[in-house]
Amino acid sequence: MEEIRLENLSKDFDGFVAVENVSLAIQSGELFSFLGPSGCGKTTLLRMIAGFEIPSTGRILIGNTDITDLPPYKRQVNTIFQNYSLFPHMTVFDNVAFGLRIRKSPKNEIKNRVREMLSLVKMEDQANKFPEQISGGQKQRVAIARALINQPKVLLLDEPLAALDLKLRQHMLIELMNIHDAVGITFIYVTHDQGEAMSISDRVAVMNYGNIIQEGPPDDIYERPNSVFSAYFIGETNLISGEVISIEDDYVQIRCPDGTGNSFEIDSTFHFQPNIGQELTVSLRPEKIAISRNKPRYQDDINILRGVIEDILYLGSHTQYIVRVGALKIRVFSQHKRVYFDDTALDWEEPVWLFWHDTDS
Ligand code: ADP
Ligand code: MG
Repeated sequence: MEEIRLENLSKDFDGFVAVENVSLAIQSGELFSFLGPSGCGKTTLLRMIAGFEIPSTGRILIGNTDITDLPPYKRQVNTIFQNYSLFPHMTVFDNVAFGLRIRKSPKNEIKNRVREMLSLVKMEDQANKFPEQISGGQKQRVAIARALINQPKVLLLDEPLAALDLKLRQHMLIELMNIHDAVGITFIYVTHDQGEAMSISDRVAVMNYGNIIQEGPPDDIYERPNSVFSAYFIGETNLISGEVISIEDDYVQIRCPDGTGNSFEIDSTFHFQPNIGQELTVSLRPEKIAISRNKPRYQDDINILRGVIEDILYLGSHTQYIVRVGALKIRVFSQHKRVYFDDTALDWEEPVWLFWHDTDS
């Protein structure tokens, strides 16, 4: 199997640029996601890969074959849409068999392949039902079986779980990963849900306004966002700005004004080489910060802040604290309902220490 390459791909609708100059390579067998807010161009990008939309500029290659001008049915690419689009008058079996029947495959082969696909999606015992007799999640499974029966090189999935409720969505995510492992082909997954993209993908491309903002493995994007957009779109964060005062190997020390005339120092590593005196913004994830009534003894005066609790929100799996540091508000997630070093709960307006070991940005 071969990698897919998008080269300078753009799509312009009467002067409106929906996708702008996208270039990237998707590895063979990879589960790759495009993640971005509604309207950022995800579906348009997918439709160009599928062949339903002609690019304004650029090329699409599978291996060394340029497929930019091929009609959809010659691309060995199948798509699953959010609304499943099953044929309502056909049974589950006939829906799945459809792709082989129009190719006039032998009856026996059809029967075996349909069985195989229905077993892959755990729908063997529903073969004779009609779409209206099965649930939303089951329809989704049938759509997957139908899309895979022709053995495409690439499966495109456009927000495939959006119509399902939360529990089912989480369950189907795991199923999709299992199906991806079992068939071994490339999946290109589109979603606006960062949790979905983070949990399912080998790599993610974060999109905004038709552009790729950042591309990489989920943990890399989460830990080292390259922009304010990436940092905010993928989970919650605190953005802290300051001026570079020293650089030691990869560690950059930054002095951050707290908005009341005082300042504190933090250190961080960066994707690029900053300069002394440069203004930078650091993304500090709320769950990386420890909160305590006592000053940690082992910590230098870096990455440690003094603040006052302004708000406490118990959320079951964790507690969120909003802590005032000068004029800044820092969000902290703590696993513990009761807090660090101490067995009594923290209270509103209590002075606390916030600290962490290092940040990525
Ligand atoms: P997403 O899937 O990320 O929500 P889309 O790719 O559907 O985004 O749309 C990107 C932008 O392009 C949107 O602003 C949308 O209105 C516009 N758009 C999509 N298809 C067309 C079209 N056929 N004609 C004109 N504008 C379109
Ligand atoms: Mg869309």
